[in-house]
Amino acid sequence: MTLSLRNSRPGLSVLFENEKLVNEAMTRRLFVGGNWKMNGSKAKIAEMCQVLKNGHYGASARDADVVIGCPSVYLEHTNQVLPKFISAAAQNCYKANCGAFTGEISPSMIADCGVKWVIIGHSERRQLFGETDKLIAEKVSFALSNELKVVACIGETLQEREAGKTFDILMHQVQAIAGAIKDTEHWKNLVVAYEPVWAIGTGKVATKEQAQEVHAFLRKWLASKVSESVSQSIRIIYGGSVTGDNCRDLIKQTDIDGFLVGGASLKPDFIKIINCQSEGSRGSSVERQ
Ligand code: PEP
Repeated sequence: MTLSLRNSRPGLSVLFENEKLVNEAMTRRLFVGGNWKMNGSKAKIAEMCQVLKNGHYGASARDADVVIGCPSVYLEHTNQVLPKFISAAAQNCYKANCGAFTGEISPSMIADCGVKWVIIGHSERRQLFGETDKLIAEKVSFALSNELKVVACIGETLQEREAGKTFDILMHQVQAIAGAIKDTEHWKNLVVAYEPVWAIGTGKVATKEQAQEVHAFLRKWLASKVSESVSQSIRIIYGGSVTGDNCRDLIKQTDIDGFLVGGASLKPDFIKIINCQSEGSRGSSVERQ
């Protein structure tokens, strides 16, 4: 029925496509990710999980995807003790499921621990451990092909921003990832985190205009190079010194679908960030365009 309409009535097919894209834009679910980095202990995890369990959550928070990237040795434990609506995420994984790769963990091991999400390409992996766009793209592709959901991080350094290279750098990073995705279905399991390196752990948050400009650029790039449908449905989240105070303005931006949070995810402030989108605080993407 739908197909014949689309084939025989071009006017209606445009309408149908537009309606579909509008729906996709409107159904981008809030995503809030924490990143504990190399912090924590069983005692600290117990304390943090208790804080999260005691939190009050609005309806929009309960509908959100909320994940916490924790050190791999605590993945299974953390996943079990977190409140039910929050899941653990791995902070990294390799591009093979087993083999002679000392120190690495694989997508199948992560899944075997009951964990569904992995963060790949964090700027600390890029900068401290020399991970390249190519390696990150391969890891994203492999994790997606092995049934994991992925938060893929991209972002420019201060030097790159000041040299006017922000969009170029981001385009290369996202192009590498897009080029490695093997199946269009995998886009559904990908969240892109825009994390300007100069904002990570510095207390210097991007302004809402700076963040929105980049998110809109990324969505436009995806529309032209991948598909309109992917560009409207993919969640693009912001990371870099997000707090319970600045999150509410950021989330009102048309193309910001959530956050990746480092420092504040280790504090009760994370509850405020999960609650960033209280009813009425954010219009639909379509209304806001
Ligand atoms: C991060 O590590 O991904 C991050 C955004 O850190 P922070 O929130 O501390 O800036």
